[in-house]
Amino acid sequence: MSPEINYKAELVGVFGHPIAENPTIVMQEAGFRELGLNWRYLNIEVYPDDLAAAVQGLRAMNMQGINLTIPHKVAVLHYLDEVAEDAKLMGAVNTVRREGNRLIGENTDGKGFLRALRDDANIDPAGQNVVILGAGGAARAIGVELALAEAAHITIVNRSVQRGQDLTTLLEDKTPAQVAFVEWNGAYAIPAQTNIVVNASSIGLYPDITAKPDLDYDTITADMIVCDVIPNPPRTPFLKEAEARGARALDGLGMLVYQGAIAFKMWTGYDAPVEVMHQALAEVFKS
Ligand code: NDP
Repeated sequence: MSPEINYKAELVGVFGHPIAENPTIVMQEAGFRELGLNWRYLNIEVYPDDLAAAVQGLRAMNMQGINLTIPHKVAVLHYLDEVAEDAKLMGAVNTVRREGNRLIGENTDGKGFLRALRDDANIDPAGQNVVILGAGGAARAIGVELALAEAAHITIVNRSVQRGQDLTTLLEDKTPAQVAFVEWNGAYAIPAQTNIVVNASSIGLYPDITAKPDLDYDTITADMIVCDVIPNPPRTPFLKEAEARGARALDGLGMLVYQGAIAFKMWTGYDAPVEVMHQALAEVFKS
């Protein structure tokens, strides 16, 4: 066999349940095709009780890495050789990469958000005042990365007091940021000194696409940057309200593409073709 013949595909993918409708495959495979890489991304149905065996299988088949989605992001922490500091703080891993035989847990959700902020909105989070709506997984990831990137002050606004206080305490204890918690129990007025507002709640998620966070929208001003984590449809009613008041809007599709692009780079070593990946995912969400 000549030395350049290599029929072996490198494997990555996602473990989850349910998994059939997860669209990440479309952008990752578009990226592999664009760079001419013989890589495959597989949506793999893994039931909760089988996660340990699935990670063992990943090792046995020499897969290059994996994404984790519901319900495995927290449970997978038990089966890895190492977990990155930020993912440890969040208590959740959405991406596993390999270093030799070692499996390293990472979380690219918040990093994807930061990259959208930096690359698309040209904003450095250092020294900024931030309001985060929500305190679930997405809010934790974004809150931790913003705090580690030296955001000056973060206000967590959440309906469930316990969840909101847990995230506030985590950020206060483990990061340099100043943090406050506000219970979300009516139209929230955004403080005037706010620079960045993030809807990290699931309000507006498909199919409930007309829903929008309960805010006093007239407290949004033109000098704010307003961000949504909802990727589909990307132009949410929340972002439309913000734009109507002159604020700049950053959508959740960009964050979703960037978190995938960061995983792509961790796995392949190549810079991801973000435009191609963005286009591929936007097409899926249009249909
Ligand atoms: P979780 O279920 O962990 O958290 C949901 C959050 O939304 C909680 O804070 C919850 O408040 C709040 N919430 C939901 N409904 C309401 C409501 N009616 N009023 C007030 N608060 C509400 O979800 P995740 O954090 O994992 O995901 C949140 C969103 O982020 C999802 O839409 C997901 O698709 C998106 N996401 C986007 C990513 C991207 O790359 N663009 C990446 C990851 C997630 P409470 O605690 O009171 O229940």
